[in-house]
Amino acid sequence: MDIKQSQINIGTLGHIDHGKTSLVKSLTNIWTDRHSESIKRNMTIKLGYADAIIRKCEKCEGASAYTIEKVCKKCGSVPKPVLRFSILDAPGHETLMATAISGANIINGILFIIAANEPCPMQQTREHLMIINLLGIKNAIIVQTKVDLVGKDKAVEHYKQIKEFIKGSEIENAPIIPSVPNRNINTDVILELISKMNLPDFDLQADPLMYIARSFDVNKPGSAIDSLKGGVLGGTLIRGKLKVGDTISILPGINRQKGKHSAYSEILTVIVGINTGTDDIEEARPGGLIGLATQIDPALTKADSLVGMVLGHKGKMPKVSEEINAVYTQLARNDIQATGFSKEEPIALSVGTATVLSYVSASKKNKVKIRFSHPVPVVKGTKMAVMRRINHRLRLTGYAVME
Ligand code: ZN
Repeated sequence: MDIKQSQINIGTLGHIDHGKTSLVKSLTNIWTDRHSESIKRNMTIKLGYADAIIRKCEKCEGASAYTIEKVCKKCGSVPKPVLRFSILDAPGHETLMATAISGANIINGILFIIAANEPCPMQQTREHLMIINLLGIKNAIIVQTKVDLVGKDKAVEHYKQIKEFIKGSEIENAPIIPSVPNRNINTDVILELISKMNLPDFDLQADPLMYIARSFDVNKPGSAIDSLKGGVLGGTLIRGKLKVGDTISILPGINRQKGKHSAYSEILTVIVGINTGTDDIEEARPGGLIGLATQIDPALTKADSLVGMVLGHKGKMPKVSEEINAVYTQLARNDIQATGFSKEEPIALSVGTATVLSYVSASKKNKVKIRFSHPVPVVKGTKMAVMRRINHRLRLTGYAVME
């Protein structure tokens, strides 16, 4: 029987031009490059997503036994499913880093992509290693792409540059795999390594909490009223389990009175179905993106309108607040000078799958008081990426941890 739900979420990091999309395609058969319309209202980031089942052929040997195909291409026998994994990806450089920080409790491992046709490290690559160290990620595979463009000697030299670059970092001992994704060179080796990654230790007993990453109206325009289906919510559970039939609360919910923050009210509904992209399941746990069919008025869920909200069991949700205290840490970025926050400075915060316009209402040393433009669920220890406006651009300058 096939594995119905993803067991591990892997984030991608690496310079944007280093061949990430074709690597993900070779590992999952899915193109994640659907970002053109990704940054929509509320500056929300649409995460690229792909998942696949790694299978192992029992007749073939070594890495060549690992495949995502249902029939082994080398010997024709039927390989057995070993692990279902998902890849989460984000567009651009600043948003990719912000997503890695705010998604730190979703991402269980990293594919770090470094192209061989440029010296290592490039500036972006250096910043990504800084994020890896910051988050303490050890579960990583470094993929050296574009080796076919440089020839063997250059590739070996570049490999040594990577080795030197990661020395002393969290991923010092990570495997470095040369690869040519569009010719499937070493795809099997990477699949074998993914299948052997340490599986995350999800807290299944906790009250469930899910970040909403997508929301849809699945009805065709003009559907008859009695055949209308309720709104569908896509997202990832960070802890606990959800079952068909559960009554759920969605926060912060709907603003009933435009412009007044205190007028938000939670949305209550019942889960009528759970889907993992390939299978309907009765009970979901953390791992990959899941889709929840609900009884919500589909007009409320259309066009990703609930993205950034969180959901869980009714009565078991974290408190929401429009103001919090947090501890701010500045990132060491070459081209950004550290300066204190000005009073009421507007900032963009990435919290889970939400990007929230916020204001720094007070700051003293690394302690900051932050006012959100709408209520945000408060879970102590949550890491939020902080983006400040510098020379008319939003730049990631650091992160803040909720107190
Ligand atoms: Zn085989």
